[in-house]
Amino acid sequence: MTKKSAKSLSERDALIIWHPYTQHKIAAIPLPVVKGEGIYLVDEKGNKYIDAISSWWTNLHGHAHPYIAQKIYEQAQQLEHVIFAGCTHEPAVQLGERLLPLLPGNFSKAFYSDNGSTAVEVALKMAIQYQGNKEQGARNKILALRHSYHGDTFGAMSVSERSVFVKAFEDYLFEVIFIDAEEKLSTINAQCSLLNLKEVAALIYEPLLQGAGGMNVYKAEKLDGLLKLCKQNNIICIADEVMTGFYRTGKMFASEYAEEKPDIICLSKGLTGGSLPLAITACSQKIFDAFLGDDMHKTFFHGHSYTANPIACAAALASLELLQKKECIDNIQFISDSNRQFVKQIQQNEKVLHPRSIGTVLAFELDSEQNEYMNKIKEKVMELSLQEGILLRPLGNTIYIMPPYCITAEQLKKVYKTLQILVNKI
Ligand code: PMP
Repeated sequence: MTKKSAKSLSERDALIIWHPYTQHKIAAIPLPVVKGEGIYLVDEKGNKYIDAISSWWTNLHGHAHPYIAQKIYEQAQQLEHVIFAGCTHEPAVQLGERLLPLLPGNFSKAFYSDNGSTAVEVALKMAIQYQGNKEQGARNKILALRHSYHGDTFGAMSVSERSVFVKAFEDYLFEVIFIDAEEKLSTINAQCSLLNLKEVAALIYEPLLQGAGGMNVYKAEKLDGLLKLCKQNNIICIADEVMTGFYRTGKMFASEYAEEKPDIICLSKGLTGGSLPLAITACSQKIFDAFLGDDMHKTFFHGHSYTANPIACAAALASLELLQKKECIDNIQFISDSNRQFVKQIQQNEKVLHPRSIGTVLAFELDSEQNEYMNKIKEKVMELSLQEGILLRPLGNTIYIMPPYCITAEQLKKVYKTLQILVNKI
């Protein structure tokens, strides 16, 4: 056995680790987490923190869930991984069989990858090649929404708002036409009428709730109007439900709020209940059929080493089972109702701007001159909330919560109380 280092976990971390989205010159020491236990994260000293942001919006049923852990263990002993080109396995097929009928629209094929960004890359490549395979003229434009965020790989960055996240790479991103979902429908129509829609291959959007762009909620009617226009012009509609999927917005998928349904849907984050990385890009039969042919050029040349990892698929099956239990659905309803109540309560406070909630997600802005992503409010909020035993991570001056569904009434009350303390102290 190796001798335990005299240095703390945080000290060892500081020597060798480069963290995501972290300005290491000013960043606080990372929380040394040694254990996950339901809603709680436990640090080296035994302090417990409520994970009010579901660990980057991934966790659904609480940390180290015994049922998911058991299914992971069983699958790891049976088949840990196998190449997914030319081979198949039970967990991947079963997950597709169970999930596809639950998706909002007519989805008949599931394409696996590893994370939200790759789910988006796959969707964009599918849509672009679909148009090429169908030989529908030169469709070389992509539509996306203002304030969108779709991931950190180059395609995903290209279809995201030109924010601080992508600034350094701007010259290397492909051109995208951005539409404002918050505009009046007539203005959206006017924006689109200026374009030649026959040149557009795809529209990508986060339905109803834009996450990293600031937890912006927009109306289903606006989305419906835009989707109708796209469908009339044979533009492939891609719903990025990486964050909104699996009941975050109160319905299993946010696309259910709209009448018009997507042709392609991207899922990740909550897919495995937050236990392992996995993504699905699902598409309609129409899309899949366009890739069939004797010409090898019609093939979808995309894949990753860990495509459809069996352990991750087993975790996703276990998470789906838990998600469909009455207890879970009831608690999602309870969180959604409580959020609505809290919005009413907190809107009295002058320092709180634009409080809003959609399903299990609640957000508001703190009145401040500083609204940049890397501002001092963010650091202060994180520090103060940890002192109260809550893990938060604001987006600039947007404070939000997105708790796992196992949160109890008592724990949720504590989270709300902490939000009020933060508002008063900052
Ligand atoms: N799409 C959306 C809507 C997201 O919120 C995110 C991540 N926050 C992504 C894509 C990218 O997912 P990942 O971080 O797993 O690559």
